[in-house]
Amino acid sequence: MKHVVILGAGFGGLELASRLSDSVADEVRVTLIDQNDGFTFGFSKLDILFGRASADAVRIPYRELAKPGVEFRQERITAIDPAARHVTTDGGEYDADILVVALGAEYDIDATPGFAEGGFEYYSIAGAERMRDEALPAFSGGTILLGVLGQPYKCPPAPFEGAYLLHDQLVERGLREATEMRVVAPMSAPVPVTPEVSQRFLDELEARGIEYLAQKQVVELDVAAKGAVLESGERLRYDLFVGIPIHRVPAVVKESGLAENGWVGVDRDTLLTPFPDVYAVGDCVALPMAKAGVFAENAAGVAADGIIARLRGEELGRRYEGEGNCYLEFGGGRVAKVEANFLGGPSPTATVVGPSEALAADKAAFAPSRRARWFGDASPS
Ligand SMILES: Cc1cc2nc3c(=O)[nH]c(=O)nc-3n(C[C@H](O)[C@H](O)[C@H](O)COP(=O)(O)OP(=O)(O)OC[C@H]3O[C@@H](n4cnc5c(N)ncnc54)[C@H](O)[C@@H]3O)c2cc1C
Repeated sequence: MKHVVILGAGFGGLELASRLSDSVADEVRVTLIDQNDGFTFGFSKLDILFGRASADAVRIPYRELAKPGVEFRQERITAIDPAARHVTTDGGEYDADILVVALGAEYDIDATPGFAEGGFEYYSIAGAERMRDEALPAFSGGTILLGVLGQPYKCPPAPFEGAYLLHDQLVERGLREATEMRVVAPMSAPVPVTPEVSQRFLDELEARGIEYLAQKQVVELDVAAKGAVLESGERLRYDLFVGIPIHRVPAVVKESGLAENGWVGVDRDTLLTPFPDVYAVGDCVALPMAKAGVFAENAAGVAADGIIARLRGEELGRRYEGEGNCYLEFGGGRVAKVEANFLGGPSPTATVVGPSEALAADKAAFAPSRRARWFGDASPS
């Protein structure tokens, strides 16, 4: 029986394990490894930030995982040898017939001097909790500067969703009139997949009186002076600085030699790395497209089909197109979605649909549907 070892039980790893379990549980043995004890959806961080849910309430413990043929190990991966398909963790050693790297992206907070001491972020659970408990209650008006500190970053709409929801909270607290809100980012337009999508985000910012400062890179925070220093030398004053941290592959991926150009190189059709029988999916890969859970999930589906085809001595009958539908929160319960396809044609396509009540209902059903599919029968409904 072939041994498939999946590194990382996030969007990509969970989807892949579940796809293999559902279709070839009697032909492969799957080991799924993650350092955490549970999975949390990226968008749940906004729920934590705005006090709509606690971190415990949105974490799905991996002990609930009950998929035939899949064994979960809570261990930290310390070395990957892609040529030998050998993996070392703090709990053991694994040899894979097929290895899948789905280790996501991590944050390099220290790459922006002053950010750790003088800024806040909501891209991690701990960061969202700290901003909820310290920064937001203490804020009583002034300038909020939300800075995208580097590209690529996860979920291109998430900085803007954060801004819309922050606006709502300030309105509720009677502080919006006393607050100037600005978003500063290196991108020429908010979500530059297509001009139409970006315009939609600009319109929503404008409707709330939030300024967008394009093509400006914050490189440092002068914490004492409360100033964000731009690459040009210009400074932007703030009372509260919220940053989207610089992203990078986890250190173990960098040390493996898989990410020579910063991210893991893969064949864009099959998601195979240059190493035989080693795949990579999700945020850790170097493809010219957005990083988001829905794309990681889709990539895992293609990798699963590739693995199944290989088991049967067949060719993979389709190719990865970098497609997915991302829900967008415009605040006030308004939910829209972007339908995107990055790699299927000569240039990316993307359309904003909604907002509508039907999409709000679809979004509400997204997490429960993944929980049921990924965790199986033992997970509570
Ligand atoms: C605020 C916010 C909102 C978002 N909203 C959306 C949204 O609405 N829709 C959407 O599609 N996406 C959204 N995302 C993005 C989404 O969360 C990620 O793109 C997605 O999780 C990527 O999936 P992945 O499988 O590549 O990586 P991840 O889900 O990050 O999984 C990687 C896993 O690898 C593990 N790992 C890393 N290093 C090690 C190691 N050394 N040893 C063991 N385990 C390790 C991690 O613990 C993690 O569980 C959002 C993200 C944020 C931050």
